[in-house]
Amino acid sequence: MTNPPPSARACIPFVSVENMVRLTAAIGLPRVLTELAAYIEADFLRWESFEKTPRLASHSPEGVIELMPTSDHVNYAFKYVNGHPSNLKRSLQTVVAFGVFSDVRTGYPLLMAEMTLLTAMRTAATSALVARRLAPAKSRVLALIGNGAQSEFQTIAMQTICGIEEVRLYDIDPSATRKAARNLAGTGLKIISCATAEDAILGAQIITTCTADKQNATILTDNMIGAGVHINAIGGDCPGKTELHSDILKRSDVFVEFPPQARIEGEIQQMPADFPVTEFWEVLAGRKPGRKSESQITLFDSVGFAIEDFSALRYLRDKLEGTDFLQYLDILADPDDTRDLYGMWTRIAAATAERAVR
Ligand code: NAD
Repeated sequence: MTNPPPSARACIPFVSVENMVRLTAAIGLPRVLTELAAYIEADFLRWESFEKTPRLASHSPEGVIELMPTSDHVNYAFKYVNGHPSNLKRSLQTVVAFGVFSDVRTGYPLLMAEMTLLTAMRTAATSALVARRLAPAKSRVLALIGNGAQSEFQTIAMQTICGIEEVRLYDIDPSATRKAARNLAGTGLKIISCATAEDAILGAQIITTCTADKQNATILTDNMIGAGVHINAIGGDCPGKTELHSDILKRSDVFVEFPPQARIEGEIQQMPADFPVTEFWEVLAGRKPGRKSESQITLFDSVGFAIEDFSALRYLRDKLEGTDFLQYLDILADPDDTRDLYGMWTRIAAATAERAVR
């Protein structure tokens, strides 16, 4: 790693975890989440100009490793991300990620970044962007079931973008709830720690499930869900990994990101292949209705889609301009004489030959 770059052309900006924290702290997290939501909204509004494919998943008994590519024919982005619920027992993150943003014209990467934090922020921004359209007007109470890595980001986005004033926390592990309550103290939110999921959803207009378990779990059952709520189901995002009883889906209007991926990974994997869903971008574009009545149950069956990561990297690139919240990575072999890759190798090899190699 080098800073500053020896050759601006060959070294690409890299945003480390530390720099991601420094940059987003300098901007302020609520503003980052608001601006990210605006970038995602702008890209959803030009949905049809993107190349889209369900993400490429490599499954193992413990989890999944996924590549999430997309392009708007000017830029190309991909994210490497995993999902390993069993990592918790090894004191490792369930989800870690990094990503690349490239120039389609040359194929050269323009930016590389950590995306564990950026994923938590873009997922929270997406949840709130959707809830702002679908949740009941004047939603003030959020139930947050699953108080792990995503949970505080989800809560702060709902507070900032949707005006949530109270969060009701529940996790199967009380220490996770204590952690989230501690982290959210000072946000101005009223924080209620709950002993059951039933208790957590009392009086909530928005119910977010963000649990991690590599199985078909039933975090919410049909009898728990009253009329008029908005459910933001983000934890079920893999084949065989769901959070809601299928009866809830039958009573809800279901909104998804990209149906071909959602049908493989989302809550709707439990339903027949022709189960009706609405693509959320069409609501933003005014082509399809969002919430139609006070009694309607709206359900965002979120799995996380590549365009959200594209938007997040695009945002990051814009925000980095003129700052020093980056390093430069020497990862492109780019000889001055473009066809003389071997010559470049011999010159560098000669210059470094004196170093002992064991
Ligand atoms: P995490 O492991 O940090 O937290 C998950 C929490 O869920 C843990 O605290 C665990 O104790 C709790 N939990 C497990 N089973 C539960 C149950 N039955 N009831 C209540 N709580 C339970 O994981 P994370 O990084 O916060 O991610 C949460 C989920 O969100 C994961 O499944 C992840 O794959 C998913 N995710 C989705 C998106 C998206 O875009 N939709 C993005 C990021 C993560």
